[in-house]
Amino acid sequence: MTHLPLLRVDNLKKYFPIRKGLFSYTHDYVRAVDDISLHLEVKETLGLVGESGCGKTTLGRVILQLIRPTAGEVYLEDSPNLATLSNRELLPYRRKIQMIFQDPFSSLNPRMTAGSIIAEALTIHRLASGSAKWERVAELLHAVGLDPSHIKRFPHEFSGGQRQRIGIARALAVEPKVVVADEPVSALDVSIQAQIINLLQSLQEKFGIAFIFISHDLSVVGHISHRVAVMYLGKTVEIGPKEAIFDAPLHPYTQALLVAVPKFDPKAKRKRIILEGDVPSPVNPPPGCPFHPRCPKRFDPCDRVVPQLLEHKPGHFASCLLYEKAV
Ligand code: ADP
Ligand code: MG
Repeated sequence: MTHLPLLRVDNLKKYFPIRKGLFSYTHDYVRAVDDISLHLEVKETLGLVGESGCGKTTLGRVILQLIRPTAGEVYLEDSPNLATLSNRELLPYRRKIQMIFQDPFSSLNPRMTAGSIIAEALTIHRLASGSAKWERVAELLHAVGLDPSHIKRFPHEFSGGQRQRIGIARALAVEPKVVVADEPVSALDVSIQAQIINLLQSLQEKFGIAFIFISHDLSVVGHISHRVAVMYLGKTVEIGPKEAIFDAPLHPYTQALLVAVPKFDPKAKRKRIILEGDVPSPVNPPPGCPFHPRCPKRFDPCDRVVPQLLEHKPGHFASCLLYEKAV
């Protein structure tokens, strides 16, 4: 039998239509996610990194079917393609894949107590009721490092880090196999970030959860990930084992992101590659390699030839013409 990964994403696309003018039928598209394929194994953390606007959040949301993809397939173990299922048919799979959101301030209902926020998921999925439900909620609060006696407190009575712990407990309540964590520490103080990352790592150990960990910050991703995927303008430009990405990055974009991480350049001897300009619009991405206008290593064919995401070392893929023979 062939190996089935825990999660498999094939050629996923999300194009948001933008209509021009009130009566115009012609429209352009924001190509937020543009043909992404990836897989995730049990108990693995895949870091997903890239500058703001490159499509990370959209990718997380289409994987969970919170928004429906324009094209492509998503499988959880031996499930049918989730993209083809109705909301009703999706319910049992929603339990297996959960999301933690960036902003713990807005992702929790201010009118609900911490306990009822966590209990809600148990009710929806009919996992527990009555006193068993509240026992489970107390257990979850304890698991994320909160005092179970605070079960009746409201979100505003907690700090930012504690609110993110409530968000994590809510995601864990249904015993998911996969958790997509979308910039879960970006809104928190640096001193609190490490605590939340350590918590996620210990929960992974304890419950065997696999994470897709989204961040614009490569150093944060480096702490927690086993593999790292680098996104640019809706596409994966490099993906591989964490060590390969940090020690021997192939794509000039990854190299530029790494130079921006001071910790990995202590003697500052490496030639500095500074990323110039903004990310181009995903409505009209540049021809050829989408990174070529900002790439310090571009050469003749880069503005014409689209690079392929090719495996250059075992498990280490990059899309860059520097490594493609015969261009
Ligand atoms: P990231 O999380 O990496 O910052 P996003 O996934 O939020 O990126 O956004 C990717 C692109 O898709 C951006 O250009 C953004 O403006 C666009 N986008 C996101 N959501 C929508 C939407 N609902 N409608 C139109 N465009 C959107
Ligand atoms: Mg985002």
